Parts: sequence; structure tokens; C-alpha cells
Amino acid sequence: MVIMDTFSILFILALLLSLFIQLWLSSRQSSTVLSNRATVPEAFSQQITLQQHKKAADYTMAKLAINKIELAYGAILLVVWTLGGGLEFIDTFIRSYGYSNITTGLVVIFGIMLISAVIDLPFTLYRTFKIEQRFGFNRMTAIQFIKDMLLQTALTLVLAVPLVAGILWLMQDASPLWWVYVWAVLLSFGLLISWIFPTFIAPLFNKFMPLENEELRERITTLMNRCGFASNGIFVMDGSKRSSHGNAYFTGLGKNKRIVFFDTLLETLEPTEVEAVLAHELGHFKHHHVRKGLILNAVITLVGLAILAWLIKQDAFYHALGVSNASTYMALILFSMVMPLFSIYLQPVMSYLSRKHEFEADDFAAEQSQPQTLIKALVKLYRDNANTLTPDPLYSAFHDSHPPAPVRVAHLSAKIS
Ligand SMILES: [Zn+2]
Repeated sequence: MVIMDTFSILFILALLLSLFIQLWLSSRQSSTVLSNRATVPEAFSQQITLQQHKKAADYTMAKLAINKIELAYGAILLVVWTLGGGLEFIDTFIRSYGYSNITTGLVVIFGIMLISAVIDLPFTLYRTFKIEQRFGFNRMTAIQFIKDMLLQTALTLVLAVPLVAGILWLMQDASPLWWVYVWAVLLSFGLLISWIFPTFIAPLFNKFMPLENEELRERITTLMNRCGFASNGIFVMDGSKRSSHGNAYFTGLGKNKRIVFFDTLLETLEPTEVEAVLAHELGHFKHHHVRKGLILNAVITLVGLAILAWLIKQDAFYHALGVSNASTYMALILFSMVMPLFSIYLQPVMSYLSRKHEFEADDFAAEQSQPQTLIKALVKLYRDNANTLTPDPLYSAFHDSHPPAPVRVAHLSAKIS
């Protein structure tokens, strides 16, 4: 019989609590969306039909249902990996080959990542080929799906194996400040990826064509000049190859910045509306949201690593989670598996900050363009992406990176002069 120590009990309690909170919020969201399914909210009744509104409700609920199953499944898996002896089994097995600490660590870490990806595959397949398909969003073929998966795996190996090897090397070096060095490595790596993403990574998955529409390019260039935004080009991405969901973003750092529109977005929006959406994106740039996000992320990473540096020396940390041999790589694995049970309480704070930034960007867009034009664009996007117009306030406060549709539209409406 296994005698669970205090830390194991704490772990189980934290797991149950985080599961409970997330399932409870999901249930609230489902019932709010369902109870508002029969009527289009007043503010949207001109642009969105009852049929479109019902579709958004059904789509939202279908996604929530699969999320709930995945949450419960994930909780069971976490127990199997830790207290159930899954990690211990793999660790003992790989150790028996007698590789060096770093090689053993790499095999164990990437072995577990691979197993987790395979276990998660049915959920990804269900989302893409059942839910997205059923609501008419999916344009991904089976061949494309397999291609993407192979490419993502190859890319992860090329980028992450050297990174993880470097981290394990810094950790085993046993300098008391290893976590500060690892922090510096992680930050530099993150910046490097942001730098190379638009030119080297994104083109592996999509085609980027310079924007050809003369009128639109004219408008966009004028707007960018007015805002002092120097970019390395305006591109249209073939998002329609995988999905009919539309979007726009800017990517890259410094002079390597690019503006990217999904082709699906340009199909539905008028040039003035595209301009309003871009003005919103430029608002993020003007308010330095990317830089603020990077700094916040750096602070959180440093705190996380400091906690890890303490945990790595506690035998109880390994034993409470079903692992008998302390090691640098096992500390990394356990930490990344268990940390979400605690960092989930940061989620509402992060969501709040993100929504604050969205309001600031909207305010900027309202000044540079017209609030009513941005509203028209947003409502079209809500309609075409089947976003719910009636979220539960608590669920939304916890999860939503963007203000819920009614709040956002009301905020912009107040600016119409
Ligand atoms: Zn935004």
C-alpha cells in the first residue's frame, strides 16, 4: 500500500480545485449561451440574423463540450504520469541504457512530449474534422493535416533539442545561479524566434503575397505614415488553406515587422473596415503592448525559475509526485506538468491586462479611423467566426483575452460623436 505524504495530498487537492474551477466556469458559459440562444441581442439585430446567432451558440457549446472532456482526461493523465508511476517507469527504463545525464534527459523529455502529443491527437482531430467541419469552417484536408504535423514535429526538434540540451547543461553545472543563466537563455531564444518568425518560420506553413489591392494599400500606407509605423511590408496570407476564420496581425520585431492579413478577412471587409482593423493593431504598437508583454513574461519566467531552483533541491518534490530519483530533467518535467495547477490563478489577471490593452487599441483606432467603421468590421468578424455575443461574465473575465462582443461594441459606440 502506498502511503501518501502531505505533498501528494496537496497536489491532488490543487488538481481537483483547478479542475473544479474550470469545469464550473465552462458550465456557466454553456448555460448562459444556451439561455440567450433564442434572441439576437438588440445591439446586433441589424447585422446578425437569428440563424447566425443560433449557429454561434451551437458552435460555442460544441467547443465547450470537448474542452470539458479534455480537462477531465488531462487531470486523469496527470495522475497516471505522476502518482500512477508513468514518469517513474519511463525514467527507470531510459536510465537502464546508461547514457549521460543530458542524453538521458533529452530522451526522457522528448519521449514524454511525443507520447503526450499522440495521446492528445484524437482531440485535435475531433476539433478540426468534426466541430470545425460541422460548422463550415474547416478547409484542412487530411494530407494538409499530416504535412503540418510532420513539419511541426521537425521544427520542434530542430529548435527545442539544442535549447533543452543547453538548459540541462546549465542546470547540471550546479552553479547556484543556474536559474538566472537559464532565464537569460530563454529570453534570448524567445527574442530570436520572434525575430525569425515572419521570414523563416511562418512561410514554412503559409504563402505570403504582397498586398495587391491598390486602393487598400494606399489607405494602409497613409495610416501607417500618420502613426509613425515602419514596417517591412504588408502581406496577405493564405489562411483559407486551413480554415475560413479570418484575422489580422503584425509580427516580428524592430525593422523586421510585418503586417499580415488573412485572405479570408479581406474577402469580407470593405477597405475602410480593413483600415479600422489595422488602426486597432497599430494602437497595440503605439501603446508598446508587445514590449510590455515581453517584460511581464520575463518577470513571470524569472519567478517560475526561482521556484524551480528551490524545488529541485527538495526530495519531497520528486517523491510526492511519484518519482524516486531526483534529476535535473525530472525536475523540469514535473514542474511543467504541475505548475499549471497553480499558475491558473494568474489567468484572470493576464486576461484582464490583455482586455485593458484591447480597449486602448480600440480607443486609438476610434481616433485614427471611425468608431462606427470598426464596429461594423468587428460585427462582421463576430458573425463570420460565429463568436458568441452573450458570454457569461465570470467565464469571460477569467478566460477572454478580448472584451466580450457586447462590452466592446458598447465601448466603441460611446465614442461615436
Ligand atoms: Zn487587439
